[in-house]
Amino acid sequence: MSIAETGAAPSPTAHLFSPLFAQPEGSPIRELFPYLSRPGMLSLAGGYPSPGLFDAEGLQQAAIDALQQDAAASLQYGASEGQPALREALASLCAMRGIACTPADMLVTTGSQQAFDLLVKVLIEPGDPVLVEVPAYPATLQALKLARAQIVAVPTDGQGLDTEALASLLAQWPHARAPKMLYTVPNFSNPGGTLLPASRRAALVELARRHGFAIVEDDPYGELRFEGQREPSIYETAQALYGAQAHPVVYLSSLSKTVAPALRIGWMLADAQLLRRCTIAKQTADLCTSPLAQLIAAHYLRSGRYAPQLDKACAEYAARMGALCSGLQQALGGQIRFVRPQGGMFVWAQLLAPQGYAGTPEALARALFAAAVGQGVLYVPGKAFFPAEAAQQAGLCMRLSYAAPTVPQITEAVARLGRAWAQAAAA
Ligand code: PMP
Repeated sequence: MSIAETGAAPSPTAHLFSPLFAQPEGSPIRELFPYLSRPGMLSLAGGYPSPGLFDAEGLQQAAIDALQQDAAASLQYGASEGQPALREALASLCAMRGIACTPADMLVTTGSQQAFDLLVKVLIEPGDPVLVEVPAYPATLQALKLARAQIVAVPTDGQGLDTEALASLLAQWPHARAPKMLYTVPNFSNPGGTLLPASRRAALVELARRHGFAIVEDDPYGELRFEGQREPSIYETAQALYGAQAHPVVYLSSLSKTVAPALRIGWMLADAQLLRRCTIAKQTADLCTSPLAQLIAAHYLRSGRYAPQLDKACAEYAARMGALCSGLQQALGGQIRFVRPQGGMFVWAQLLAPQGYAGTPEALARALFAAAVGQGVLYVPGKAFFPAEAAQQAGLCMRLSYAAPTVPQITEAVARLGRAWAQAAAA
């Protein structure tokens, strides 16, 4: 999919576009947006949190507190590292997740998306190999592509990144340059919905130490857990094995899924020298993350409303996930495979082509998407989550999000998906 060009006239600046932006591809998920405005469309496509779970009242109070108590700091430029009050509050939040850190270990970023972009700027030169779990979060693939990194796909299974496959890949490394970093979402991944077991987290840290690459642990979903035990973060696993500051793990997180994406508050924990370089890179990106947003977030986190709000979100998402999974079983039964997530916002599902189907999986995937749009339901086709070279691996996979639609909407959406599949598979 290429980004929609507005206007038919040739651009007077077209000859100036850098080669990377001559034929750019936009986010494959954002390109589904036009379908959303069709009347009656039900969407399992977005990764948006439920608007019904926004604590507008609590954030309104936090905004008043920020502007009454910290007016000057809220409205002025601030340090690129972030507001001290927010860094304190986020360090306490990390402690609740089992991560020991101080505000000095942290850079506040404009969403965790910016944190990844800064790391890419600081670490990656064109042609550098970067290990990425696949299926992968599309914006990560996009950022790496724009940096002209060499994306090296690491397979996943029902428990997330396959560390044995990674060890074999590293043992027979086929590329001239060593890998610089590895990207993973270990908790309720996007799109896989999987939770990486503790033993694989420790194995990853060992591999990073042995082969000299950094691990980027992206964790926007870890607190949205419905069942089971919290697994130790990779960051904390590395701290326990090698001590603070002596390990190559960078931890990224965000308030987007637990408070509100509009705040655009993310953060990064990294060793002092890497953090300083990312801070310098941030200076040319946006000078600082909105101090007003940071102080609203700081007051909100101190207000005591975060934990009960999170409990509410987990209960609601668990109910929606249950509705999606039982609906899929009912509508598609033996023709679909998926792992029931223990948290997060996503189900990664694979449909099985009917016996004797003569066409290619890609053709069937396209027919299914067209039939689904016709039936009034959207999902994200699997190929959005693979690097272009590996797109054929996507087959009949899809990402379904249960976060934004209500239970009755999910039930209806899945029934429509069942009808779309029957239509596509019979054609
Ligand atoms: N990482 C992952 C895995 C995500 O799913 C998202 C949001 N969809 C982000 C990062 C970016 O989040 P933020 O709003 O903090 O930039």
